[in-house]
Amino acid sequence: MNTRLFTLMTLGLTVSLSIAAQTRQTVGSLEYHDLQNYSWMRLAQIIPEVTDRIILPVGTVESHGACPIGTDNFIPENLADHVWKDVNALVAPIVNHGVTGASISQFPGSIMIRPEVFQEYIYDILKDLVRTGFKNILIINGHGGNTEPMQKAIAKLHMETGAHFMIISWWEAAWNLAEEVYGLKPVQSGHGDLEEAALVLSKYPELIDREMYEKLGKDNLGHAGTDKGVIMMPAWATTRLPEKGVGYLDFDQKKAKEYTVKKAKFISDTFNEAVSRWEMMESWK
Ligand SMILES: [Zn+2]
Repeated sequence: MNTRLFTLMTLGLTVSLSIAAQTRQTVGSLEYHDLQNYSWMRLAQIIPEVTDRIILPVGTVESHGACPIGTDNFIPENLADHVWKDVNALVAPIVNHGVTGASISQFPGSIMIRPEVFQEYIYDILKDLVRTGFKNILIINGHGGNTEPMQKAIAKLHMETGAHFMIISWWEAAWNLAEEVYGLKPVQSGHGDLEEAALVLSKYPELIDREMYEKLGKDNLGHAGTDKGVIMMPAWATTRLPEKGVGYLDFDQKKAKEYTVKKAKFISDTFNEAVSRWEMMESWK
């Protein structure tokens, strides 16, 4: 091979490698990962080339014992902070009003959206994310009352548009982490309890109200829920323990951070696997 041809080939290789490097650009290499920081022109340049994935954090404003009334918003926001890079997704503005539970809605600060209103509202938000070009949408859910209306909204949109959706309700997923981090037997997390507080504590330690927790008493502030066949309005307490005597707050931020990182990893791994399966199924030919 003559030198000139070799040089030309090397140049060609360099150019094609740099084009490949450009096409491999990720959200982590961009200036922003928050959807709201973009002008529409720049957004149009990166969707779908850099990403067609977005995270929508969804919560509510609701009493949570010694945890702040914004707990269900702070948690999906905190988890999204840990997840976006690993799943190569932008993050949409949080939906911070949801279907707060009637049984604790009378405590100060709780704001309740009716399920049918919430379902339509979420549907409209998701519809425009799909129109913008997002094909893979991860909803990190911070509140149980939101689940059913959101499930109806994504089923409808999936059938209408073919876009892919996943809702992860953090407290119903990866129960084993309670055992791994706290040595508790794996049970579903309650409400305003150890695990829920941990996901707030890891980011906003000053927002867990230890003084009030001790003043009212952990058993007055929390209860293990009602027996089957017993329905109460209001509930026993604004905190629900997963089991009697289990799930009291421990205020250990190091453990809380460990728990948060592990929970976020579960979410990233689950979403990444789902997207690769969705794409594999659609391109099998
Ligand atoms: Zn909550």
